[in-house]
Amino acid sequence: MEMRLFWSTCPQCKKAFVVAWELRNAGVKLICPFCDHRYLPDESAAIDERH
Ligand SMILES: [Zn+2]
Repeated sequence: MEMRLFWSTCPQCKKAFVVAWELRNAGVKLICPFCDHRYLPDESAAIDERH
């Protein structure tokens, strides 16, 4: 089974990182691995849902 992922761009440092798809609409805050900023997926500066 393929593991689905998406890319989120941190609204604070503008760096993109990969996140498990399950967190896309889970209402859980992401933690940016670059600056430790915590934010909801919908607050991303950009979201890339490519496979
Ligand atoms: Zn960041």
